[in-house]
Order: sequence, then C-alpha cells, then structure tokens
Amino acid sequence: MADVLKGTCLCGGVEYEVEDAQALGYCHCSRCQRWTGSSLAGVVVASENFRFTKGEDLVKTYESELAPRNFCSNCGSSLYDDLGAVYFVAAGLMQDLDMEPSFHQQVAYKASWHQIGDSAAQFDEMPPG
Ligand SMILES: [Zn+2]
Ligand SMILES: [Zn+2]
Repeated sequence: MADVLKGTCLCGGVEYEVEDAQALGYCHCSRCQRWTGSSLAGVVVASENFRFTKGEDLVKTYESELAPRNFCSNCGSSLYDDLGAVYFVAAGLMQDLDMEPSFHQQVAYKASWHQIGDSAAQFDEMPPG
C-alpha cells in the first residue's frame, strides 16, 4: 500500500485521504492569502489520488480566478485548490504529514510580514514544469 495521508477539517465533518503525495510547498499568491489568512501550505497530489471518505456533501466550491477552491461549508476549513491534473491540498488538515517543504511559489506576491525561514527553492511565480 502506498503512503496514505488522512485529512480532517476543523469541525470533523469532512475527511479525506491522499495517496502518493508528490511534494509539500507554500503558495504566497494573494488569492491563497485571502483564502487561508496567510500563505497556503499545500501538498501536491494527482487528482485521482484524492478521495473523500466522509462528508463530501458538506464540501462547497468557490470558483476563484485560475483554480476552484473547495472548502467545508460548516466550519470554513480550506480543503484543496483544484489545479486540474493536480490538487494543492491544505497541509494543516493532515495531522500525520511528515514531509519537508521543497518549494515556495508566487513569492513575488508574498506578504511583507511573512519571513521565509527554510531553504526550500523560491519561485517568483510558478515552479517550472
Ligand atoms: Zn468542517
Ligand atoms: Zn496561491
């Protein structure tokens, strides 16, 4: 069995699993800042490796510019940013996540008060590829 991570929203109404997480990184774009209240720490996972295990009926989608954003309609937890082939899944919901961040994207739009404190690669906009 591949590595499976379980995520739970703040109210516990929505649960999901991701398999074969590809990377952990931060998005500093202004949309993620507004969506989460800061930068979005997310796990990159192929869309077919994400599945809800509980509460899918509570999930609502906000059609944000560039990528739809899915969240719990009961507690408001950010769940994932739908980029099509991959999802950017909010890292803070997965208690057993144990990966080192490997990138920062959209750093050109970073909040001035957010100090990057790790040595992960930084990209002004999207990472290449
Ligand atoms: Zn919830
Ligand atoms: Zn973003």
